[in-house]
This record gives sequence, C-alpha cells and structure tokens, in this order.
Amino acid sequence: MSWQHAAAGLLGFIVAASPNFAAPERLEYIEPHMGTLFRIVLYPPDPAVAKAAARAAFDRIAALNRIMSDYDPTSELMRLCAQPPATPVPVSAELFDILQRSQAIAEKTHGAFDVTLGPVIRLWRETRRTHALPTDAARTAAQQASGFQHLRLDPVARTVTLLRPHMALDLGGIAKGYAAEAALAVLAQRGIPSAMVAASGDLALGDAPPGKPGWQIELNPFGSTSGKPLTLIVAHAGVSTSGDTEQFVTLGGVRYSHIVDPATGLGLTRPTAVTVVTQHATLADALATACSVLAPAAAQQLADHSAESVRVIVHQRNADGSTQSTAFGHATAGLISTP
Ligand code: ADP
Ligand code: MG
Repeated sequence: MSWQHAAAGLLGFIVAASPNFAAPERLEYIEPHMGTLFRIVLYPPDPAVAKAAARAAFDRIAALNRIMSDYDPTSELMRLCAQPPATPVPVSAELFDILQRSQAIAEKTHGAFDVTLGPVIRLWRETRRTHALPTDAARTAAQQASGFQHLRLDPVARTVTLLRPHMALDLGGIAKGYAAEAALAVLAQRGIPSAMVAASGDLALGDAPPGKPGWQIELNPFGSTSGKPLTLIVAHAGVSTSGDTEQFVTLGGVRYSHIVDPATGLGLTRPTAVTVVTQHATLADALATACSVLAPAAAQQLADHSAESVRVIVHQRNADGSTQSTAFGHATAGLISTP
C-alpha cells in the first residue's frame, strides 16, 4: 500500500468516526411557562435536531399549562371546577392521569398533599395579598369544601366528579414536575436521552452528561446567602425542593409559607425546606410539598415504606441562622452521591 493510500484510508476512518468521537455539545434553552422559567439543558448526539426537539418539549409544557393552569379561567382544570357539584365530567387523558397520580399521593400522605385544597389555597393567596388572616368561618368553609375523599375518578368512563359544593382543584404542587417529566420524555423520543428539564425547584433528569457519572445539582434551599450549597450527583431521576425562601408572608412576626397545612387551613410556619429524589419528577414534586407539611418523623416513615425508592432530605434553618440537612429513605438507582 502506498503512503497516499494509507493516508486516504486513515483520513476516511477519521471522517467516518468523528461523529462518534466528538463529545456532544452542551446546549441550553430557556422559556417562561407556568409562572416560572423552564430551562432545558441537553447533549444531542446530532446538534441539527436539538432546536426542534427543544421547541417540541416547550410546546408540550405549554399544552399542559393550557390544561392544568389555575390562573387561566379557560383551562380545562378551571372549566372542570366550574361544573355543578356531583356531575361526572369527561376529561383529557393528561388531566385524568395527573389527578389519578395526585389521588394516590394524597392517600399515601394521608392528605398532606391534596389537590382538592383549592378553596384553602385561594383563601391563603388572598391573605398573602391583603396581609389579613382569614376569619375562622371562612377557613372552616374552605376546609369543608376540600378533601381528596370527595373527588371521584372513573377510569373506565374517564370522568371526574367533584362531590362537594365550592370544591376547587389546584395542581400548583405537582404540575411543574409533571410538565418537566413530560418534556424530558419528548426529548428522549427525539433521540436526546442526555437531557435535563428544570422548572425552578423541580428537575427532571435523563441520562448523565457524556463522560460524567450524573448531573451535578447544587441545592441552596434557604437562598444563596445561607452558606455552602449541598451537591447531589444524580441521573434518571426527578429532584424537587419545596421551601419557603421565595413565596412567604410575614404576619404578626410569624413567617408563613405558600404551602398550606390542611389541618389548620393556613400556610406552614415550620422553618424547613425539603428535597425529594425519586425516579419520576411528578412524584418528586408532590412529595416535596407533602414532606414539607408532614412532621420530619412522618416524612421519614413515608420515605422508608414507599413502594418506590424515595430519598427525602429535610433542610432545617436554626434560630442562630445556621442550617443542617438530614437525609433518609432509599437512594434511587440514579442517585450517585448524596448526604
Ligand atoms: P413551588 O411552587 O415553590 O415549586 P410546591 O411544589 O411545594 O412549591 O407547590 C406549592 C403550591 O402547591 C402552592 O402554591 C399551591 O398552589 C399548592 N399547594 C399548597 N399547599 C398544598 C398542599 N398541602 N397539597 C397540595 N398542593 C398544595
Ligand atoms: Mg411540589
């Protein structure tokens, strides 16, 4: 073989092999949806498909928002809640799916997470706006209009029935995780398994970035000024943090969260934040909300006895301003490093 042939052969090999050898480039896309910013990070094997794949993922999030929003009076959720009580209403597959998953989590958490708390959440939003605590009568009425036992799902007819008068559904504690999980699935279907979809504290993680054991997630549950962040290395999982750093109201010297306690009908006052790592972002989102409501011992019980692998990390803010994090439950398959 002449040197020209050898060189041509070598060149041919390099050209043919280069798409496999070049590490996929990191690309990032950001769009506002569901009242927050959704961030997509991906490592596409073929960069030419990345933009269209990200577009399709954002479109899926927007479509889910049109179904699940409680701010848009024309959303499917709001139209469902406007029907007279005790009327079976046919719903879309997505709305039925998220309600079915919500009901399962409500049962598992004994109602700490409950999407029928709409009337209580609305009343609490009013308090956050006006800075006036609700009257006992208003609080009791809102609690009586709520309760996951009074929501019926018929999987055969795919209908939903709200049994209580004035009942309202609120998917604020689960919809972002659901949308992030759905968007991640769109990216995988389009040939990009190494991707992350992040909606502020709710993350859906696919395959690890090329050459890495997992995605490096920095947790700062009490804001960036409160000390060193906690680092997780994780792949194929949902990671959600619920806390009181952004949305809270201070009344009479007491700091209340935007997460409501179904027992009191008021915002939580415990100085904690909770991170949940589990396989699916939908469950992570709802459980992070639920474990914020539950006392730490009950959250531990839930994590230890869950059929799915669930890791719960409770972050505590002490009176002297210091913070500490305690983890319990099972590590998910994708959780490579955690406290
Ligand atoms: P974030 O909105 O900061 O991601 P969460 O996922 O914890 O935090 O969701 C909080 C939202 O969930 C509230 O704004 C409200 O819409 C809803 N919510 C509040 N309390 C509960 C509860 N106990 N169960 C279910 N949903 C709740
Ligand atoms: Mg949540």
